[in-house]
Amino acid sequence: MRPFIYEQPTDISAAVAVASRFTTNEDQPTRANAQFIAGGTNLADYMKLGVVAPNRLLDLNRLEEPALRQIRVTDDGIRFGALVRMGEAADHSEVKRRYPVIADSLRLAASGQIRNMASLAGNVLQRTRCEYFRETSWACNKRVPGSGCAAMEGFNRQHAVLGASDACIATYHGDFAQALIALDAVVRAEGSRGARKIPFARLHRLPRDTPHIETDLAADEIITAIEVPAVPWARRSRYLKIRDRESYAFALASAAVALDLDGDSVREARIALGGVATVPWRAKEAEAALQGKKLDEASASAAAEAAFADAEPRRQNAFKVELGKRTLVRALLETRDMKV
Ligand code: SF4
Repeated sequence: MRPFIYEQPTDISAAVAVASRFTTNEDQPTRANAQFIAGGTNLADYMKLGVVAPNRLLDLNRLEEPALRQIRVTDDGIRFGALVRMGEAADHSEVKRRYPVIADSLRLAASGQIRNMASLAGNVLQRTRCEYFRETSWACNKRVPGSGCAAMEGFNRQHAVLGASDACIATYHGDFAQALIALDAVVRAEGSRGARKIPFARLHRLPRDTPHIETDLAADEIITAIEVPAVPWARRSRYLKIRDRESYAFALASAAVALDLDGDSVREARIALGGVATVPWRAKEAEAALQGKKLDEASASAAAEAAFADAEPRRQNAFKVELGKRTLVRALLETRDMKV
């Protein structure tokens, strides 16, 4: 691992000021000389592997703003401070009661040790586990722009069938993000150009021909909070994750579902898919297919067909299309049957 300078700023503006001194507006957060670190469960891995090599790390754990570590529940919704650990949010009684899809997604995301270490903001910014991205001897457009993509003709069983491009087919592997995009969450960020709110659906970028640009954040911007509105479909919600083994593993397919029902009929549905797409994937076509319909196996299957209508499987991952549809059907029916 390359030597680096380690700093512990104590307030957000100081952290932003240092980051802005050592980065430019053109820098991507994941490629900048100065990078932020919180739990470090993702970044430290990739530094050890030589995938990233910042020469300055800004540790956010000494930031003194109390709101960064707080979960605040109000009638308007819930606000998670960026440094809240995954485990704390997963175990929070009001999160479990009012937003079960969030609690499920966090609980299923990682082992207890990782959940106690990883921050919520870091979790949504985690990078892909594509094998060729992690191993620096392979061609990878995300790691080295313009170098090619070894996964196209290589081992691509884990890769995405939705949202891919000719430059990159890497899956977004997070779980929490699927719950957030389904519930119309908003991210608050602060950088040298001020504070702003970013709809969660706009935080991650499709790979297109620039897969190294992964988010809408500038290199000197820090996520300070994640806000989820109080919505009528949040209580009847769940996260279903299908993986190779029932211990901690990344999703082959997952579905975050939230439903507002009028008897058997769907007033509103919110659906996001994981394990199958390059970014947290909101399935709006599936939501539209369900609106006003009686929710049963037939309508759930029709919604799943709509969700995967544009899927583009590769040599080894075609099974994800069928698996993804079945995952969504099961998630919809189980969410319908929840006692709320
Ligand atoms: Fe790199 Fe993306 Fe190709 Fe994986 S799929 S090798 S991350 S460009």
